[in-house]
Amino acid sequence: MANSKYEYVKSFELPDNLLPSTWIIVRIDGRGFRKFSEAHEFEKPNDENALMLMNSCAISLLDDFPDIVFAYGVSDEYSFVFKKSSQIYKRRASKILSTCVSLFSSTYVMKWAEFFPNKPLKYAPSFDGRVVLYPTVAHVHDYLSWRQVDCHINNQYNTCLWTLVKSGKTNEEAQKFLKGTQKQEKNEILFQQFGINYNTLPPMFRKGSCVFREEVHEISKSKKVKKKVVVDHCDIICPGDMHFWNEHPYILS
Ligand code: ATP
Ligand code: ATP
Ligand code: MG
Ligand code: MG
Ligand code: MG
Ligand code: MG
Repeated sequence: MANSKYEYVKSFELPDNLLPSTWIIVRIDGRGFRKFSEAHEFEKPNDENALMLMNSCAISLLDDFPDIVFAYGVSDEYSFVFKKSSQIYKRRASKILSTCVSLFSSTYVMKWAEFFPNKPLKYAPSFDGRVVLYPTVAHVHDYLSWRQVDCHINNQYNTCLWTLVKSGKTNEEAQKFLKGTQKQEKNEILFQQFGINYNTLPPMFRKGSCVFREEVHEISKSKKVKKKVVVDHCDIICPGDMHFWNEHPYILS
């Protein structure tokens, strides 16, 4: 209760308000998901249901926090971009980060059975998180490009590795085989030895997942523009492909 002699301890709490007028990006990442994915027999290198569960949790965050304007996910990680002017929790970093991480984690557990109806959850998954501030839209573009390039490099490597492993090589042999190979060489190994055209693999695996509000123009009575949270697997690497950002100027405006 207020006004006790103990109340002075509150003054030990330090302010952690984030700089105003900057883009807030929260990135969460599954803790020990290599082990978690093995314990729950995720398909390698990409378990589609596990990715869809991650996407569903991200949708829940956009539904709950209107200030999140964009999210990008790959593997066991998700990045959430808050609008520059957000005043959520008076921009207190620990409040923003802890609510994102805990809402994501609890939603992951709640929705588990929806995506894995025949697999009991063996133990409680957890996620770590960090907050980073970016001063300009160009930085946000570069941040998201960085994550999508990472997705591409890792997925290409993992697709090769697991194809080799599934063909009979040990993990060590496959790793040795791939050491020092270039991007084009990896695609050629896949195509020539296994008949796999990398570019025709599912876009969710190759490009990761983008979650954002799509404008829905209703022709009916009111001319109001409604927005719906959607998941897409688009190219967001800048300046290479500005198509997505040109089509959705309102997201980072
Ligand atoms: P840390 O706690 O440091 O993040 P980690 O084991 O989670 O450790 P990461 O670098 O985050 O390591 O890698 C996540 C791992 O989770 C990947 O190596 C991959 O094996 C596994 N993983 C995550 N999502 C999937 C998925 N959808 N399908 C298959 N494996 C996945
Ligand atoms: P905030 O998000 O700011 O924390 P809050 O609604 O959680 O908002 P608190 O000051 O944290 O507000 O108060 C927690 C509230 O939760 C209490 O007012 C109480 O009504 C309710 N509550 C928590 N635990 C119990 C419990 N065991 N039994 C009954 N009510 C509870
Ligand atoms: Mg980590
Ligand atoms: Mg992880
Ligand atoms: Mg990770
Ligand atoms: Mg409370």
